[in-house]
Amino acid sequence: MTESFHPPMGERLAALRTNDLPVHGGRTLAYVYDSGLAEVDRVAREAVAAFSGTNGLDPTAFPSLLRMENDLVAFAAGLVDGPDTVVGSITSGGTESVLLAVQSARDARPDVEHPAMVLPDTAHAAFHKAAHYFGVEAVSVPVGADFRADVAATSAALDRLGDRAVLLVASAPSYAHGVIDPVTDLAALASSRGLRCHVDACIGGWVLPYAARLGRAAAPWTFAVDGVTSISMDLHKYAYAPKGTSVLLHRTPALRRAQYFASADWPGYTMLNSTMQSTRSGGPLAGAWAAVQSIGDGGYLDLAREVFEAVDAIAAGIADIPGLHVVARPDSTLIALGTDESCDPFTICDEMSARDWYVQPQMSFAGRPATIHLSVSAATRPHVPEFLTALAEATAVARAAGPVVVDAAIADFVAALDPAQLDDAEFDGLLAAAGLLGADADPDEGELALPTRMAEVNALLDLAAPRLREAVLIAFLDRLQRPQPSRGTDP
Ligand SMILES: *Cc1c(COP(=O)(O)O)cnc(C)c1O
Repeated sequence: MTESFHPPMGERLAALRTNDLPVHGGRTLAYVYDSGLAEVDRVAREAVAAFSGTNGLDPTAFPSLLRMENDLVAFAAGLVDGPDTVVGSITSGGTESVLLAVQSARDARPDVEHPAMVLPDTAHAAFHKAAHYFGVEAVSVPVGADFRADVAATSAALDRLGDRAVLLVASAPSYAHGVIDPVTDLAALASSRGLRCHVDACIGGWVLPYAARLGRAAAPWTFAVDGVTSISMDLHKYAYAPKGTSVLLHRTPALRRAQYFASADWPGYTMLNSTMQSTRSGGPLAGAWAAVQSIGDGGYLDLAREVFEAVDAIAAGIADIPGLHVVARPDSTLIALGTDESCDPFTICDEMSARDWYVQPQMSFAGRPATIHLSVSAATRPHVPEFLTALAEATAVARAAGPVVVDAAIADFVAALDPAQLDDAEFDGLLAAAGLLGADADPDEGELALPTRMAEVNALLDLAAPRLREAVLIAFLDRLQRPQPSRGTDP
């Protein structure tokens, strides 16, 4: 023990969180999903703590974990019309569920030398990560004018790939626009070719079934649709569980088989894993189980009623804000907002931050302008009037300022940059020019002074081609993630 004085650990941890986004209160409309049920949160938090030392590596050593996993899979399967044959696994999050869906599709087809998957270009970036990790080519098909997968173009893409295709992907709903793909038609394309069809319901899986029960019409996307072979649905989104859990369901055990990994090629225990992690804390699983058991079916129905009241009220309110519109009628709890030429989304995001609301900027993509993303939570409902007031003010300020203009010379410079040709010093220069490397920060010390206003930075990044934007942001993260030697032992 050191002699130096420290305030109690609780205070130190609280101090570290000063600049974090709030996870409760309904004012953070991305990253966090808040039921507003303090008691559920407490019970779930205690479950995480109680099971934090247990190890999911071997479910026979911790039968409690196996029991909770099977309970959660059964609950999830019930929501999405799982047949009697359905099986599933709890993973660490949506990305892991997606990675495993792609990996198992690939490994179920060892005969295919250069495997490929077809996805609408609105599919989550996790599929591109899977492509990168597993060497499965991602063939992205532009969506239609309604932001939903284009069935004819998808069919043509599958025809071009022929035997190389191992997977077809659909979203329910897509993150960026909040609409459900035409799963019935897509799954039929897949099954007629003997292909797997994964429905990414990471964000919709726990809320859309309740929307249907509330009488909200939406296109079918569950296992009730012939040809759907797997579904991902996150517990840490609209099941309102603590972070660190998602469900990956397969229609049959045979479809899951390739997801499993065993190795006897070493002198230790025979490794046997259903997911990517091996040793893994039982904490998140227990937290999710406790949240789902506490909220229950009736509770989720009530939460869905609340969240959709909020979604409808927000969408209606936006219609009255000059300069702003809803990009696509939301099928679920996500709303994408667009602006007219009087203002830009990035300034509105900054103005919302200044009013203690977090809304998420989405860059322009495939010729479509930048937007603002809202993931609406049940806890936002009582605050919708304040939210709409803040949004109207923020938009009015943004309109008065006019859209952020990037200097034409800088725009040309950025457009001509090839990230493959840039060295570290040039990235430092770019980060400094973009305002991401503070003027008085010492890059050798890994110091970054983030501007409070991001609109100019975002407008610049928005001009960058996708590969350059990726490279700049990787350079940025690399500079952020540098230890401060002096702080390791005595922060
Ligand atoms: C959130 C999300 C994912 C990825 O989930 P993580 O939990 O962030 O890893 C995948 N697909 C969709 C549609 C999502 O909304």
